[in-house]
Formats: sequence, C-alpha cells, structure tokens
Amino acid sequence: MTQPTVPQNDPRAAYLAAREGIDQAIRRVLDGGWYILGTEVTAFEQEFADFIGARHGIGVANGTDALELALRGLGVGPGDGVITVSHTAVATVAAVELVGATPILVDVDDMYCLDPAGLEAALAKAPVPVKAIIPVHLYGQPADMTAIMALADARGIPVLEDCSQAHGAKLVGRTTGTFGRIAAYSLYPTKNLGALGDGGILTTDDDVLCERLRSLREYGWRERYVSDLPGMNTRLDELQAAILRAKLPLLARDNARRREIAAAYDAGVYSPKMTLPRRRFTAEHVFHQYVLETADRDGLRARLKESGIGTNIHYPMPVHLQPAYRGRVPLGPLGLKRTEAAATRVLSLPMYPQMTDTAVKRVIDAVRAAGQV
Ligand SMILES: *Cc1c(COP(=O)(O)O)cnc(C)c1O
Repeated sequence: MTQPTVPQNDPRAAYLAAREGIDQAIRRVLDGGWYILGTEVTAFEQEFADFIGARHGIGVANGTDALELALRGLGVGPGDGVITVSHTAVATVAAVELVGATPILVDVDDMYCLDPAGLEAALAKAPVPVKAIIPVHLYGQPADMTAIMALADARGIPVLEDCSQAHGAKLVGRTTGTFGRIAAYSLYPTKNLGALGDGGILTTDDDVLCERLRSLREYGWRERYVSDLPGMNTRLDELQAAILRAKLPLLARDNARRREIAAAYDAGVYSPKMTLPRRRFTAEHVFHQYVLETADRDGLRARLKESGIGTNIHYPMPVHLQPAYRGRVPLGPLGLKRTEAAATRVLSLPMYPQMTDTAVKRVIDAVRAAGQV
C-alpha cells in the first residue's frame, strides 16, 4: 500500500491550526467596510514590532517590496553598492536592482549566512561606494551579526536585515531584526509567520526613518493627494493584517515545534555521509527549513519521492549564476565557493509546525531506507 505523502510544506495545515480566529478576523474585516491600511494594519504593525522588540512596524505588500522600500528609505539608489549574498531567495538581490543600486555578492559561511571575511574583503575592494549591507538569516539561522555589525559600524554603513526566513530567531538573547538599522520580513504563506496571500513588514527603532517609510509606501504622501517624495504603492491590506493578528500569538509555539522536529531529524538521520544543520553558538534557530547536505543529493531526493516524502532545494542555482544576473553582477574578491558547492548538495526535508510525530518518523525512516545512513 502506498503511504500518504508527507509534503515538504503545508500552508493549509497552518490555516486549519488557527481556523476559528482567522475566520472571525475575516468576518470582522468584511463587515467593517475598510479594506486597505486601517485599524487592523496599525494593530498588527504594533503587535509584530512588540514581538520583535522594535519600536515601529511598517506593513507592506510583500517581502520584496519590504526590502525595496527599506533601501529607498535609507536613500540607496543609482551609483550605490549594496553587499549581500548569492545563496538566498532571488528577491534579496532583485530589490537592490529595483532601486537602481548595484548588488555586490559575497560567499556564505558554513551556516549559509553572509560570511564576515567575505564582507570585509568586499568592503575593501568595492567597485562602487557601499551604502548598505543586507545579511540574510537563511533557513531560520541568524547570521553572524556581531562580526557583521562591527564591520558596518566601523564604516558607518547601515545594515538591512533580511528576516524573511527568521521571524523570532535570536542571537545572544536578541531577536534578529534588532541588530541593524532596519529589518525586512516576507509574510508569504509558507514563511514562519505567513498570511493567506502576499504580505510583508519592516521593523525599525528609528522614528525619522519610520515616518519616511510610511510616506514612501503610499505615493510619498504625507497629506492625502500631495506627494512630498516620489514614492511607491506597497500597502498591506486589512484582511491579511487581521489574519496575521490571529496567527501571531502562535508563532513562538510554532517556532519551538520546528526546533523539536529539527532535533528529531538530527538524532534520526545522522550519518557520516551527510552534513546536518549546524547551530550558531548562542543562537536560537527557528528552522524555516531543515537543510542537510549530501554528495548524492539528487539520488536521495528521488528515493524520498518514491517513499512519498516531499523535499525541496533552497536554492538550486545561486543568484549570480542565474540567467538574469550571470556575468553582470559584481562578486566579492574571495569568490563564492561555498555558495556554489551548497547549490549542488543542499536538500530541505519536510518542515512545518503542524507535522505530526508520525510524519516526522516516516521521514526519518525513509531517509534511513534510502541508504544514506
Ligand atoms: C521569501 C523571501 C523574500 C521575498 O519575499 P516575497 O514576499 O516573496 O516577496 C525575500 N528574502 C528571503 C530570504 C525570502 O525567503
């Protein structure tokens, strides 16, 4: 008999886990008659900022817009350089080009985040003046913010944290998103905190920057119909904000469940043939993804598929090798060896907080049966 499939991700299960609150929230908004940038958005912005430990939240339409808006708010534009990674969702790099700036891509460390040594070398040899640095807390693992902030602060360069995979992750007791000047979060349905559609948010402690961002997200208005700044339109809608308010109280518990599943995988699939996710010392990883490395990645993936286990590859092609960017985007002087190796070796196992222990065990058994252990 074929066993039921364990999907790699399950946004519907996330909805069902909060169904009553979400259904009530939707009804409340529909009956309220106000659908864009209203009381639900304002409340969600404050509740999310409180969760992160930041002063302000600025809701936007998606994670890519959050990054673009943050860069605009920081005054980054044509002629400016922005250092970030190539081992990330393409959105991180796309946002830099959306404001007309030049992305400079550097390698990751052995925990898949911006390598401080690569950053330092790129800062020393940048082809254009560097006006921002974007570390990505990839897979839910905080980047080495202590080293990155030291390099940035010494040069007065603002740091924009891409927290799209790390809502609530911590490093040295501090929540990611509170290290840099500003942080961007995608609220795409499969993220640790996800809407039922597109959404994004920024957090910052900077009052002046916050005011500028609120204006820039809606045509640069300060007063309705009068643009003080050339802005964009990237608003979070009331339905998504209300849904996110219903889900936010579950985020800490969901992140803890992700860590529990990760610990079970660690113990269950450990083998000398594989590299399992490392945790940064003093970090609280939130396992947006559980990513292992193995030389026969494609073989393992095919065998897991036969056993009904969904997997994914985050990411199969580094941004600097993708057709849209290849040969065109400047790279850091230390090269991108780890990035290029990771693309051929990484595999993301099923990971979502509603996964049952039975499903976790089924994944472990399937990995073992695939002959990797
Ligand atoms: C998802 C994601 C984004 C983009 O978010 P969208 O909401 O899809 O625009 C940006 N950066 C990272 C690291 C992501 O994982």
